Order: sequence, then C-alpha cells, then structure tokens
Amino acid sequence: MVQRLTYRRRMSYNTRSNRVKVVKTPGGRLVYQYEKKPAKGPRCGDCSVRLPGIPALRPIEYSRVSKHHRTVTRAYGGSRCSHCVRTRIIRAFLIEEQKIVKKVLKSHGKSK
Ligand SMILES: [Zn+2]
Repeated sequence: MVQRLTYRRRMSYNTRSNRVKVVKTPGGRLVYQYEKKPAKGPRCGDCSVRLPGIPALRPIEYSRVSKHHRTVTRAYGGSRCSHCVRTRIIRAFLIEEQKIVKKVLKSHGKSK
C-alpha cells in the first residue's frame, strides 16, 4: 500500500521556515513533522568566531533558559571570545601605563 503524505499546513513554498521531516507515528502512519529553523548560536562581536560554551538556540528559547546557558562567567562573556577579551585587557592596561609614563616624564621635566 502506498501512503500519500499530505502537508499539515497550507503554506506550500519551500522556504527555510517550512522544512518538514517524515516521522512514523506509534500507529504506523507516516506523517510530516514541521522542523524548527536551525539556530546558529552567538558569535564573537570582534572576530565572529562561534562562542564556545553557549548552546545554539532560537532567540525565543534563550529567554526560556537560565542565565548560565546564555553566558560564560567572564567579563564580556557571551559577547566576546576569550582571545578578544584578553587583547582588550592588555590594550587597556598598556594605554593606562602609557598615561602614567607621560605624567611621570612631564613632572620630571618641570622639576628640572
Ligand atoms: Zn573574538
């Protein structure tokens, strides 16, 4: 017996949001099941590498999961990767050091 599969919704275009898979029900029937759009997951805002430790969920699903699923406990966690945070910290530190050096040189010049 050849079973004819019918769509359960009326939207018939082959779009990303209209993907289906064939599933066998407990009663032995084959039916279409609509799939959710695949999630890409968050990426680093600077180097756009995929952020490790954070699951790839649909945007609404992030609102349903707890905070530790959305972030890692670090400065800029869940937004920038560890390498970019590291370079940011080093850059800020060096800029501050440069300011101090400038100040010291200025005061030395005045005293002489
Ligand atoms: Zn990065």
